[in-house]
Amino acid sequence: ALTAGIVGLPNVGKSTLFNAITKSQVEAANYPFATIEPNVGVVEVPDSRIDRLVEIVQPKKTLFTTFEFTDIAGLVKGASKGEGLGNQFLSNIRLTDAICHVVRCFEDPNVTHVEGSVDPIRDIEIINLELVLADEQTVDNRLSKVERKVKAKDAEGIAEKAVLDKIKAALAVGKPARSVELTKDERNLVRGFQLLTMKPMLYVANIAEEEINDPKSNPHFNKVVELAASENNEVVAISAKIEEELSVLDKEEKDMFLQDLGIGESGLDQVIKASYAMLDLCTYFTAGVVEVRAWTFKKGMTAPECAGIIHTDFEKGFIRAETMSFEDMDTYGSEQAVKEAGKLRLEGKDYVVQDGDIMHFRFNV
Ligand code: GDP
Repeated sequence: ALTAGIVGLPNVGKSTLFNAITKSQVEAANYPFATIEPNVGVVEVPDSRIDRLVEIVQPKKTLFTTFEFTDIAGLVKGASKGEGLGNQFLSNIRLTDAICHVVRCFEDPNVTHVEGSVDPIRDIEIINLELVLADEQTVDNRLSKVERKVKAKDAEGIAEKAVLDKIKAALAVGKPARSVELTKDERNLVRGFQLLTMKPMLYVANIAEEEINDPKSNPHFNKVVELAASENNEVVAISAKIEEELSVLDKEEKDMFLQDLGIGESGLDQVIKASYAMLDLCTYFTAGVVEVRAWTFKKGMTAPECAGIIHTDFEKGFIRAETMSFEDMDTYGSEQAVKEAGKLRLEGKDYVVQDGDIMHFRFNV
């Protein structure tokens, strides 16, 4: 499973957010395949399309698809030089696929700030610098190894050095590796190094409870939005405190509370959706009377590859996929009506599955 690591300076609200995640965690009985570990929270990916499918199909069972968050122990200035939990911290991030960077935007004199004042831009720079410094070490190590191959006129070595040089130049001016434009081949050459600043990143701005229905009233938040835009990153505003309160409520109570707050969707749900999207993840559905279920796939995957997510036999014996879009199902109101409207498609092995497709795989056993 793909996982997003939650990082940020101490006292910004990471644990509060992570507590909300673990309290919202899926029930192991329904999701036996989900790994349950203390520093990992597995949550359902909210999707209103499921509610509509359940209404139409009336299945016995409903399963959402899931997403995983990993709590990364606190980072401090100097981590890349081994300060605090430094190296531990960095190797934990290396194992994640994306980064949720929590920044403090709430003012509260009772909560001390490690840097003495609330200043999210400075905080972001501290963390991002540590990640850049760690990547510089990785790149330098690799460059010294590749040197020999370059001397031996090894083509792959020469190509690798060229990419590493490009990345090194960006890091040297404090820019993340993800800001470097690379071809697919170049990307593959450096994939194995797990560069921290190559991972997609989302900013999670922790604002005060009373600002939740109007984040723009918080000037710190606005600065984070501006910075994120310049880096092509997304920002989600949350109140970690509110999320913790929401996480212990059942669905009905939660909806009422959200209505009281004047917001449509909880911050955590927005974080889950944004994290899912930043990894280019999409959802297809299987919809039968036994079970309506959402499945995660990576954008660009073909029908047999998507079938393989359910079971490897489905991929090996793939014949075709009876496919309809969620929109058609929604419009026509039943599978039968979709068929009668001529909107059911038979897709072959080259079909690239689209987000929202409802799939019925045909396969040989
Ligand atoms: P971490 O060190 O980043 O994990 O931060 P914590 O989640 O432990 O939060 C540090 C302190 O800030 C705790 O006392 C929290 O109760 C408090 N805190 C977290 N989020 C908020 C918030 O949105 N508003 C206020 N006023 N306090 C918060």
